[in-house]
Amino acid sequence: MKIHEYQAKAILRQFGVATPQGVPCFSVEEAVVAACDLGGDVWVVKAQIYAGGRGKGGGVKVARSLDEVRQYANEILNMKLVTHQTGPEGQIVHRLFVEQGVAIAKEFYVGMVVDRSSQRVCLMASSEGGMEIEQVAADTPEKIHKVFIDPIVGLTDQQSREIATKIGISEQGIKEAIPLLQGFYQAFDQTDASLSEINPLTLTTDNQVIALDAKMNFDDNALFRHPDIVALRDLDEEDPVEIEASEHDLSYIPLDGNIGCLVNGAGLAMATMDIIKLYGGNPANFLDVGGGATAEKVTEAFKLMLRNPKLQAILVNIFGGIMKCDVIAEGIVMAAREVQLTVPLIVRLEGTNVKLGKQILEESGLTIISADNMADAAQKAVTAAAAES
Ligand code: GDP
Ligand code: MN
Repeated sequence: MKIHEYQAKAILRQFGVATPQGVPCFSVEEAVVAACDLGGDVWVVKAQIYAGGRGKGGGVKVARSLDEVRQYANEILNMKLVTHQTGPEGQIVHRLFVEQGVAIAKEFYVGMVVDRSSQRVCLMASSEGGMEIEQVAADTPEKIHKVFIDPIVGLTDQQSREIATKIGISEQGIKEAIPLLQGFYQAFDQTDASLSEINPLTLTTDNQVIALDAKMNFDDNALFRHPDIVALRDLDEEDPVEIEASEHDLSYIPLDGNIGCLVNGAGLAMATMDIIKLYGGNPANFLDVGGGATAEKVTEAFKLMLRNPKLQAILVNIFGGIMKCDVIAEGIVMAAREVQLTVPLIVRLEGTNVKLGKQILEESGLTIISADNMADAAQKAVTAAAAES
C-alpha cells in the first residue's frame, strides 16, 4: 500500500526525522491560508499523487509571494500530472501540500528496502540527491552506498556515520544525520514498510539536515497490524478495477495483452504469463484467485477480465491442491453462463478430483477448449486469440 508524501512525512516526524512545516490542502483558498499561517516568504506548492518525478512534470513549484502560491495552487490542483512513473495517461491532482521553503546547500538520496538475499533491511544512500535514483544506479552505480541492518541491533551509530560520510555530509551535518537515519530506520521497521525513500535529503545553508521529499510503501500482509495506516488509503490514486478486485479478495493487475489469465496461486500465475509469452502471446492480466476460490469468486474474476475491450481469449489454469477441480469446474460453468462468454475459453485443470472436474466441463454444453498441460494450454490460447483478431 502507498501513501502521500505529506502522510509519509508525518510518520517520519514521529520518529525524529526533520521535515519542513507544511499543510495538506484541497483547494486554492486553503493553500493561500496555509501559506499565511506558515509564515516566512518562500513556500513550495506540491502536487500530492502516488508517483515520483513530480518536479519535472510541473507538480512542484517554489512560490515567493502569496500571489504566486495562489497562482501555482491554481495551476497544479486538478492538473493532469504526467511523470515517468504515471505513464502517458498521467494522474489528476486532487490534493496539494504547501510547505515552508528551504534554502538548499546540497541534496542527497537515502532509501530503504527489504533485501531478500541478506534477509535484512538495506539502507541505500547517494550523494546524487534529487535525481532519478534508477538513472544513478544505471550510470554510476559506485555512487550508491549500502548498509545492511541487523534486525536485533538496529542501525548503529557507526553504520550511520560511515554512510553519511561516504555520501559527503559534512562534519557539522553528521551530528544531525545520525539520529535522522536511525529514526528513518525505526519508522521503516515499526510500520512494516516495504520501501521508503527520502529524495532529496537536504543539507540547508545553515547546516540543518532535512527531508524535503518522502515516500513510504507498506507490506500489504502486515496492514492488519496498522489500522492507522490503512485509514490513510486514498482510493482516488488507485485503479478502480484493482480496488474492486481487492474487495473480492482477488489479486488482479491489468496488462497490455489480449489473453486473460485466471490462475490459483501467484507463482503459477507468473508461470502462466511466462509460458503465454514463450508461445508468442501476450497476457491481458495477472489474476490470482487464491487458494480457496469459490464459484462466486471465479464469477467475479471472469467479470473483471471481460471488462477489458482488448480481451480475445481466456486461459484458466488451475492446480487443484487445496482447491478441488470439481469445485472450480462448477465455478467456471456458473461464471460462463452468468457473464455470457464472448471469447474462447481454454481450461487446464490438474490435481484433486480432476476427472470429475473435466466431466463437469464436458457435460456443461459450453464450448470449452480443454488442455492437457500448461504448454498445450498456452499454445491453444495463443492460437485462439490470434483467430479472434
Ligand atoms: P519529486 O519530483 O516528485 O521527487 O518531488 P520532490 O519533492 O523531490 O521535489 C522536486 C525538487 O523540488 C526537489 O528535488 C528540490 O530540488 C525542489 N524543492 C522541493 N522543495 C524545495 C524547497 O523547499 N526549496 C527549494 N529551493 N527547492 C525545493
Ligand atoms: Mn523527490
